[in-house]
Amino acid sequence: MNKFAYSIVLLLLCMGLISCSTPKKEEVISQPNAISLSSIAENLGMRVLWVPSQKKAVLEQGECHVSIEPNSNIAWVQGEAVAMEFPAYLNTREIYVPISFYNKLKTVLQDKPDVLVAPSEKVWDSTAWTIPQKPIINFTVILDAGHGGRDPGAISQDQTQQEKNLTLDIVFRLRELLQKYGITVILTRDRDAYISLDERIQKAESVSAHCLVSVHLNSVATATAQGFEIWISRNTQEPRYLQSYKLGQYIHYSMKKGLPLRDRRIRKSGFQIIHRTKIPSVLIETCFISNPQDFLWIMDPMSRQAVAQAISQGILAYYFYEVAPK
Ligand SMILES: [Zn+2]
Repeated sequence: MNKFAYSIVLLLLCMGLISCSTPKKEEVISQPNAISLSSIAENLGMRVLWVPSQKKAVLEQGECHVSIEPNSNIAWVQGEAVAMEFPAYLNTREIYVPISFYNKLKTVLQDKPDVLVAPSEKVWDSTAWTIPQKPIINFTVILDAGHGGRDPGAISQDQTQQEKNLTLDIVFRLRELLQKYGITVILTRDRDAYISLDERIQKAESVSAHCLVSVHLNSVATATAQGFEIWISRNTQEPRYLQSYKLGQYIHYSMKKGLPLRDRRIRKSGFQIIHRTKIPSVLIETCFISNPQDFLWIMDPMSRQAVAQAISQGILAYYFYEVAPK
C-alpha cells in the first residue's frame, strides 16, 4: 500500500467509517470488476485525498478533479455528474469504483493530452547501426512489463485476454532481441506476479541502467480509439527529460515505420513509472485492447514479434546516437 492509501485508511479510521472489529450489517460484496482509488491514482499519476468534512475522496491531476462518495453511484468529474455502474464502496480499507468508470476517466484525461509534435522526418539512418560489429557492452536497459498478478491491467471485451500477459510476452521477445546485441536487460518482472509501482521504481533505481521502457496495452470505453502512443514524463524541468524525449522519438519513429498501427504520437503525463524513475524513461501503449481491429492484430504472435522488433530498433538507435562513445 502506498502513502496515499495509508493516509486514506488513517483518515477513514479517524472518521469511524471503517471498522475491523465490528462488521457492518450490510456485508460489502467485493466486485470483480472494481478497482481501488489508490490503484487509479498510481496508474494515472493522480493524487488521492480524503476530505473528512464532506466524507468524500478526491482524485486530482493538474486541472482534472474527481470526487467520489462511498455508497454513491455518482462521481463528479470536473464538476459534472458521471453515473457509475455500481456505487463506490469501502472494502479492506480501500475505496473501490467500477473499472468501467476508471476507463471513462482515462478517456477524459487523454482527451486533453499534452501532445508533443513527434518528428515526421527520418531521425536516424538505419544502415549505420543495424548490424553492429561487436557486442554492445556497458549498455543496460530496464524493461517493465505492465501489470501482473492480481493486477490484470486492461481486459479484452470478450473477457478472454488480459493486458498483463500480453505485456510480458512482448517484453520477453524484446529482451531476446536486445540480448542478441549484447545489451544487458533487466526485467522488473519475469513472471505473472504483482509488483507495485514503488517496487518497480526501486528496482530501476537500484541498478545502474541507461533507460527504462515500460510496455502496456491501452483500453478506453470507446471502441473506436486505436493506435500506439509513447508517453514521457511531463516534468520538462528535469535534465533527463530531453533524453526521455529522444528515446521516445527513436522508438516512435521505429514503430511508426514498422507497424501497421495508427500513430497517436508522443505524449506527456505523470505516469509514476516514467515520472519518478530518474533515468530516461518511456511508457509505450502498444495498441488498444478495447479496439476490435487492434485487438485482433495484437493477438497474432507475429504482431507481438513485430512490436518487439520495432521497439528494439528504437532502443538501438537511442544507444548509437545518444549513449555510445563517439
Ligand atoms: Zn497498462
